[in-house]
Amino acid sequence: MNPNRGEKDAPEASPAAIAPDKIFIPCNLCGSTDGHEIRNKDRHGGYLRTVICRHCGLVWSDPRPTPEQVREFYAHEYRMNYKGVYQPQPKHTYRSGKVAVNRCRRLKPMLKPGMKIMDVGAGSGEVVYVLQALGCDVSGFEPNEGYAKYASDILGVKVTQGFYQDTSVPPESLDMITLYHVLEHMEDPYDVMKCLRRWLKPGGYFLVEIPNVEAVCQQPHTQFHRGHLHHFNQATLQMMGRKAGFTVSSHDTSTDGGNIWAIFQKSDVTPPSAKECEMPANYERVAKILRGHTGFKHFFTPHPYQRIFRKLAARSEEQRSVRLQRTPKEVLDALIAEAFPRT
Ligand SMILES: [Zn+2]
Repeated sequence: MNPNRGEKDAPEASPAAIAPDKIFIPCNLCGSTDGHEIRNKDRHGGYLRTVICRHCGLVWSDPRPTPEQVREFYAHEYRMNYKGVYQPQPKHTYRSGKVAVNRCRRLKPMLKPGMKIMDVGAGSGEVVYVLQALGCDVSGFEPNEGYAKYASDILGVKVTQGFYQDTSVPPESLDMITLYHVLEHMEDPYDVMKCLRRWLKPGGYFLVEIPNVEAVCQQPHTQFHRGHLHHFNQATLQMMGRKAGFTVSSHDTSTDGGNIWAIFQKSDVTPPSAKECEMPANYERVAKILRGHTGFKHFFTPHPYQRIFRKLAARSEEQRSVRLQRTPKEVLDALIAEAFPRT
């Protein structure tokens, strides 16, 4: 992975003084280099420069952190996983199983028996497991060795280790592709969308879920970190999908505003030009929200207190479930039976 691919004069991310209006990497949505810095720290207080495009409101890390800095971030955040020894405890399986069930509930109206689905960035395989239980022919791939091994060995699902760039998928062979919290990690999300589109049959579905750049439910200093290279709101996500050759089938935002998702459908409609991707009003909107989201204001909103209550409630639910079921599969089967009683 070359972090500075296609960028001229981009320095390695460092605390060196860079003019606020300097943009090294053109906007991945509209191609503009007219933008400005909105933050210069990551969640651990280290230097991380984040910029916003004045023409459309897309937000990204610029210059990008070096691969070493990204690895350091992951080592800090996901230490166990990077050692390849990730073995979730039953409480973790319950937590990720619950998320997977909710994700699949959203897809349920579109699912048909035998449908060919691929989960890109499948993590520990819970979404693949649930979709398989719902009768789909589903597989996934996951770059992290520990996660991929857990999914195939413990859950017994078809998850292979690899990156989307290295995976050979026949063109027009899939009915649906799902992408949960993957696109924000990509250097070139537009290219990812175009690549995945080729794998879909005509009219195939493509679901993307990502963090919402407009989210104010978390503390402002935790919003930006080295692992996330791009940040979207609904407008930029939908426009990028349209530019990559999809139409928007449906979209929504989580109740706490933290995540957004869109379901796209592969289409032959002429995609918008770079000029048509410009959304100056969206830039104003995103910039205003980010400027207004300060630590001081955050503590005068219900968000930090709601988060604590939600965590406590979830913990007690996890403990009850873990007492009842022993293996990861038992935990997931119980969640599936509860969410989809006729399955
Ligand atoms: Zn732009």
